[in-house]
Amino acid sequence: MRPDAEFGYELMVCRYAELAWHPGEGSRPAIVSRQLGTRERRWDTVVIEVDPAGFAARRALDDRTIGSDLLHVVRHAPAAWAWYRDALPDPGYPWRYVREAVHRAAGRGLVETRRRGNRIEIRRVRPYPDWIRRIVAVENKPDLDRSAADALADQLSHDVDAALADEVWLATETTGERVEPALLRSMPVEAGVLTTDFSGGVDAGAARVAWHPSDLDAARRDGASDPETVTRRLEIAERAYGKGWRSFHDTMRPDCRSFELRRTGRALVPYCAAKETIPTARECSGSCPSFAPEPPGWRTAGWPIEGGPGKGIQRLLRRRRERVHDEVTGRDGGRTTARSGLGSENGVRNGRD
Ligand code: SF4
Repeated sequence: MRPDAEFGYELMVCRYAELAWHPGEGSRPAIVSRQLGTRERRWDTVVIEVDPAGFAARRALDDRTIGSDLLHVVRHAPAAWAWYRDALPDPGYPWRYVREAVHRAAGRGLVETRRRGNRIEIRRVRPYPDWIRRIVAVENKPDLDRSAADALADQLSHDVDAALADEVWLATETTGERVEPALLRSMPVEAGVLTTDFSGGVDAGAARVAWHPSDLDAARRDGASDPETVTRRLEIAERAYGKGWRSFHDTMRPDCRSFELRRTGRALVPYCAAKETIPTARECSGSCPSFAPEPPGWRTAGWPIEGGPGKGIQRLLRRRRERVHDEVTGRDGGRTTARSGLGSENGVRNGRD
């Protein structure tokens, strides 16, 4: 299946990264997400290289994103009971917001609380682990022409300078031909270039490195450990963990009778049978004029998955995420490696079985 839009291409790059990371330096356990970054800059694909033991400890805490306000509490919660204002660093904003975050963290089981007189004391359940090794940003541009190359060169230069990521890449589709070398030469030298060919479907061999990236560690040595940068990187990694890249089912309309998941190689991507294309997340929404709800009969008799195909698709995509996380942490008892077993996406035909 050819990626019809940048959205479809982005999903395929995400799946490729899940199967084949690191493209230049051999297998590294990693999780993949999309459309993350900061207020100023949003990356298409984000790869978080993880320490497997640390990642297992992170999963033991919770399976959702720990947002910035809760992170402040969870990271600094003490091993022994203490008044939260004594235990936590000054947040730089009113303490009453911290108190609310303490209660929410306790509600999720991330810390314990008790009341002593008027004071709320906290204690950690377990330490917040050191689970992130590197953060890699990938910018996707299937059709790289001169104007796209110029715009991307600026963006990637900004990424290199901002130094939030340890490595940045451009991914572009070649369909077997060489990408115009002059376009690639205009990219910052620190950015890697990945040329993909998904015409035969997505698998671990569907891309090659046209230019190796430089590790930005050295360039940002001074800024990397400042508390603000550490916190922003953690926030990005946390969002990647909670969101993954299959969360498109949360905003698209798998409950539409035309919505399907189609297999292309080892990837499952959304497909609209009515429009005969990979729909963008924007068009496959509540305002789509072609939306038609699943017939009620699909949700009851004759459909083996409770709730109908739409619910089944959502469950399936969530299970895929869990399975990849299991494999990254090695919970399958070593039957697969972090690379080789990353979830063959077989077993779904048009999302209906
Ligand atoms: S018809 Fe519209 S809502 Fe239904 S699958 Fe296609 S794009 Fe999505």
